[in-house]
Amino acid sequence: MSTLTGSCLCGRVRITVRGEPRRIGICHCTDCRQESGSAFTFYAIWPADQFESTGDTSEYSGRRFCPECGSRMFSADEDEAEIKLGILTDAPTGLTPTYELWIKRREGWLRPVPGAKQYEEDRL
Ligand SMILES: [Zn+2]
Ligand SMILES: [Zn+2]
Repeated sequence: MSTLTGSCLCGRVRITVRGEPRRIGICHCTDCRQESGSAFTFYAIWPADQFESTGDTSEYSGRRFCPECGSRMFSADEDEAEIKLGILTDAPTGLTPTYELWIKRREGWLRPVPGAKQYEEDRL
């Protein structure tokens, strides 16, 4: 079973995920743009029992980040964990989005990811 590791910019918070993600997405919504400071977020969802983190995080509206360096890390509940893929140690990740959300907010210079399911807003 494959294991991926990741950390925040300063290294205080670390995560590990095991096995295949349930799904891999990109989101262009306003919340994702503002929280990331970028044009979209790139993330994947693993079952909660295949995810571990070490180091204290701060949290806003369920979105966890490093209190020291501010890196956006993950959201997690008892069912699943959504990991921001930019925190993974190895880049490129080799993970390809299977869907895109809020494409009505996508920048005009970005093209749809080939083969990824396209949603105007949230997933139904
Ligand atoms: Zn940090
Ligand atoms: Zn979003």
